[in-house]
Amino acid sequence: MNYVVGNLEDPVFRPPSEWNALLIAVTNGCTHKCTFCSMYRSKTFSMRKDIEEIKKDIKRAGAYYGNRVRKIFFEDGNAFVVKPEILTELTEYAYKIHPNLEKVSSYAHAKDILKKSDEDLKRLADSGFTMVYVGIESGDDEVLKACKKGATQDDFALAAQKCYKAGIAWSGIFLLGLAGNDPEKSRKHAIESAKLINRMAPPTPIEWYISPLTLGVTPGTELWTQKSTGEFQPCTSTEILQELYTMIEYTSDDLKKCIFNSNHASNYVSLKGELAEDKETFLKVVEAGIKYPNLRRPDYLRRL
Ligand code: SF4
Repeated sequence: MNYVVGNLEDPVFRPPSEWNALLIAVTNGCTHKCTFCSMYRSKTFSMRKDIEEIKKDIKRAGAYYGNRVRKIFFEDGNAFVVKPEILTELTEYAYKIHPNLEKVSSYAHAKDILKKSDEDLKRLADSGFTMVYVGIESGDDEVLKACKKGATQDDFALAAQKCYKAGIAWSGIFLLGLAGNDPEKSRKHAIESAKLINRMAPPTPIEWYISPLTLGVTPGTELWTQKSTGEFQPCTSTEILQELYTMIEYTSDDLKKCIFNSNHASNYVSLKGELAEDKETFLKVVEAGIKYPNLRRPDYLRRL
């Protein structure tokens, strides 16, 4: 259950691990329109201009919830687009109002991380902003271009390193199935994603997070239209698992503290552990899922 105050407009999304965070609207909607994403289609993107109003929401939450707030998640789709001094001011204020606050985070687009200077990011981290959740989707530049992600493999690799340097934790999300069911394209999507994971490894062993999700083609998106015309053909569940197998297989055995989590409801198999340490186990679980369809999470439980 989330703590909510103020003017958050429906629909509201947040990462699964922020289920108990106070959600504070800093923007509404998302700056992008990726071809597969239906999340914020009903909202026109806007930034909340009046910082004092956002602070009032933060303060009101203090009155409602007392000392219970330990996490704050800045909404909406890409709150990190906001100027760093504003994010810093809001984060500092949040810690003043909520004495037990331990974590402040938001979704972030790679380009908005890269636009901020190292000093800006450091100030933000020092104010207590702890983590970004980044929808990467693929390490394959062709797939990224086709889905209009607005960033490349290089952008994501650089953005991750910039965050580590500042002291902001990194959580990256990949999207299985995004290349469609062409075997070569699907394999390239998996291999390039593994390459990107390898490039995103922090220079010192700190925890970082990688989560693969599985594509669902939803009405109202460009991908839905492409599917109806046959331009995009989705992967079968077996092909999705083969992609996941290849992605894990091509990650480096030297990765440290990479928390890999495929527990998301969209996935056919559930994996959670440290990527390099648990690689062999992960591969066996995925292989079993490929061989035995009854081991896959059924569609009615995948909430698609
Ligand atoms: S995938 Fe992320 S960046 Fe793209 S439209 Fe959806 S929320 Fe915005």
